[in-house]
Order: sequence, then structure tokens, then C-alpha cells
Amino acid sequence: MIKKQKEGTLIVLSGPSGVGKSTVISQLLSNREDLYFSISFTTRQPRVGEENGVNYNFVDRDEFERMIAAGELLEYAEYVSNYYGTSLKVINDKLAAGIDVLLDIEVQGAAKVKSLCPDAVLIFIIPPSFEELSRRLHGRNTDSEETIAGRLQKAREEYKEIPRYDYLVVNDRVDNAAAEITSILTAESCRVKRRIHLTEGV
Ligand code: 5GP
Repeated sequence: MIKKQKEGTLIVLSGPSGVGKSTVISQLLSNREDLYFSISFTTRQPRVGEENGVNYNFVDRDEFERMIAAGELLEYAEYVSNYYGTSLKVINDKLAAGIDVLLDIEVQGAAKVKSLCPDAVLIFIIPPSFEELSRRLHGRNTDSEETIAGRLQKAREEYKEIPRYDYLVVNDRVDNAAAEITSILTAESCRVKRRIHLTEGV
């Protein structure tokens, strides 16, 4: 077996609401069981079916603000009136143990991560077309026209940040998107900077 680099790789995944990111992530995690998915902290209310400590760590605003003040977050952002943030300690511990870590975060958080960890791999997922995104958001049948219009507007703003990312994946089908991300991760792990330790002692 090839000896892995000592430090794990940080992988950031972003994409507009409705693109099917969580389904792609579930598929990806079953392809790559060695990948650790970072469970974020948030002040938003759990949705039906979401579990504390599984989808998110749900906390109130006071606790979140305490974590910000104590420097416990690698990054955080306010998104549609709620805080979302990534635990610094958990990420550092996993990376130090040589484990690759996957973050599902929005564009401001992704930019912060890239500035703090330039080696992070940034991947943005889009639907096959903007019309398809609108169709998917309508298809959920859970949101008002106004909420959907707000999400589409937010998506337009997020698309402007795509040039900051390293890779663009199109979610036409979940298994294709997960396979593309798996290929990206394989290629990234073969980069000279991640394998230079294999040449030591020659
Ligand atoms: P949702 O409420 O739909 O679960 O997530 C809303 C947005 O927050 C998504 O774009 C998701 O990627 C982002 N998000 C989730 N966790 C974090 C986090 O820890 N930090 C940041 N910056 N964004 C996050």
C-alpha cells in the first residue's frame, strides 16, 4: 500500500440550494469510506428527519456567539439569518491524523477556508441548467414562490464566486457527480506535493 502524506486533505463542496448536494455527498461517502464529513454547527432549526450530531450540531445564538468569541470556529457565515460554522478542533485533529475531511459550506466560508488553508480543494456543484434548478426547487413542493425566488437570486450571486473554485461538477445524475468528485480526489492525492514524501531517502 502506498504510504499517504502525513496530513489529510481538506475538501470543500459548495453549490446552490436545490442542486442535490446532500444526495451527492451521501453517494460520495459510500464510495470513499475513509473520508470524514465535517458536521457543522448551526443556529437554524432542524428540518424534519434531521438529527442533532448527524446532520448538524444545533445550537442557539448565544452558544454560537460564545464559540466565535472563543475562537473555536475555523470559519463561520451568516446565511439567510442563521449562523453556520465549522469546528476548528475537529478539523485540525482529523487532518493531523492523516484523514481527508469534507466540508459542505457556502461561498463565503469556502473563500475563508482557501485563504487559511491554500492547499484546500474547492469544488462547486451546479445543476445541468438554471431552468433545471428552478424546476428542482419547485418540485420539492415545500416552499412558497417567494422563497424559491429568493433561493434562485441567491444562486445567481453564488455563481459569481465560481471562478474562485478549483473544480466545477455538473449534477446531471447523482452517480455521475459522485464519480467525478471521486476522480478529482484521486487526482488530487497524486499531486507531487502530496506524494513528495515517497521520494525521501533516495
Ligand atoms: P442548509 O440550511 O440548507 O442546511 O444550509 C444552508 C447553507 O449553509 C448551505 O449552502 C450549506 O453549504 C451552508 N453551510 C452548512 N454548514 C456550513 C458551515 O459550517 N459554514 C458555512 N460557511 N456554511 C455552511
